[in-house]
Amino acid sequence: MECHIISIGNELLIGDTVNTNASWLGQRLTESGVDVTQVHTIRDELNTMKSVLQTALQQADLVITTGGLGPTHDDITKKAIAELLGCELVVDQDILSFIKNIFEKRGIPFSKSNYHQAEVPECCEVLFNTQGTAPGLWYNGEQAALGVLPGVPFEMKHLTNNKLLPKINSISGDRRYRFSHYLTTAGIGESTLSDEVIGDLSSLLNDNVEVAYLPSPQGARIRVSGYGRSQDKINERLNPVLDHIRDKAGTFIIGEGKDCSLSAEVGKVLQNQKLTMAAAESCTGGYIANAVTDIPGSSDYFVGSVTAYANAVKIKELGVSKEVIETNGAVSKEVALKMAKGAAQELNADIGISTTGIAGPGGGSKEKPVGTIWIGFWAQNQHFALQALFTNKRLINKERSAAVALETIRR
Ligand code: ATP
Ligand code: MG
Repeated sequence: MECHIISIGNELLIGDTVNTNASWLGQRLTESGVDVTQVHTIRDELNTMKSVLQTALQQADLVITTGGLGPTHDDITKKAIAELLGCELVVDQDILSFIKNIFEKRGIPFSKSNYHQAEVPECCEVLFNTQGTAPGLWYNGEQAALGVLPGVPFEMKHLTNNKLLPKINSISGDRRYRFSHYLTTAGIGESTLSDEVIGDLSSLLNDNVEVAYLPSPQGARIRVSGYGRSQDKINERLNPVLDHIRDKAGTFIIGEGKDCSLSAEVGKVLQNQKLTMAAAESCTGGYIANAVTDIPGSSDYFVGSVTAYANAVKIKELGVSKEVIETNGAVSKEVALKMAKGAAQELNADIGISTTGIAGPGGGSKEKPVGTIWIGFWAQNQHFALQALFTNKRLINKERSAAVALETIRR
């Protein structure tokens, strides 16, 4: 079943509001076996709406709109639908009394424009919205079905789950589902991973199986998607590809599943080995502590971190000697090691990790260009430091430095 989503609202086009409705719907519909093939974002303008809707209804089996159902003059989705489908806008008595009741309870006067809220195109079925004043609509046409949802995200979600999906299920028979499996890697770029580590997959791919590389500062995520009429059938199609990727890229794969994260995987390692960690963060400015504490239960293994941005703090709180900083510079192997040791010793942890670098965009020198980062690791019987050279993108450098530092623990 092919579906087009139409997101309505000027605020979406000028960037005031991020179109989270389309991504949420894309996910939810895909899970339900609906094939979302197009998303359109359009203005609150009658003719645009009518022509985009008309084309979508001709091309797709299902069209879903969000937004423009409110009481203000710019909310004209219902008018566009009524004109396009050739029916009248009529006041729905149930909606009217529901809205009046809400206004009464809140002590707000009921204005004329609120009557518009209760108007629906006569040919549509109402998807009663208990979460707000804008009703959803359903129209099961000969060529395509149309679902109309409010723009407010929680109302849209509620109506989709409780009213729209049952309608969609009632009209669609034999569906082709899509299921995706995710493998998360760390410490490797997307192109090296795909070109050198995994290599050409074309002999394993076909219309029913696809592979996508999704880059992120900590590494690349691999999404392997399959289509089929049942989960078993899809698994049968995905497994050879997954096994091949696991075989080739195993050392870089930190975990599987959509919610896998490096800090969660590090947490598992520490928990299994009954070890604790601490961090000394200069260029990451607390990013490591933030990522680690995003994981529930991190208090089992995370002791704390020192944001040692100034040299004085590296000296006072972490016991790095002034001499070491003056001789080598704050961004150096020696300082990274001393910081990691200081974190472990001062905070009483089994493992200390550290970051010190030039995050950019300014600073740097010929010897130590912008993006030069040293990462230290210290444990009782092992210590080492790694150097990385990233770019001049400050926030990405912070994220990548934190990932490299965390990865030293996981390995
Ligand atoms: P209501 O009558 O409850 O206002 P509505 O259908 O008229 O519903 P809109 O007026 O278009 O909805 O949008 C209401 C709010 O919902 C907007 O201010 C915006 O913050 C949010 N919104 C609208 N469309 C989207 C979208 N596609 N993604 C995320 N948020 C959205
Ligand atoms: Mg709007």
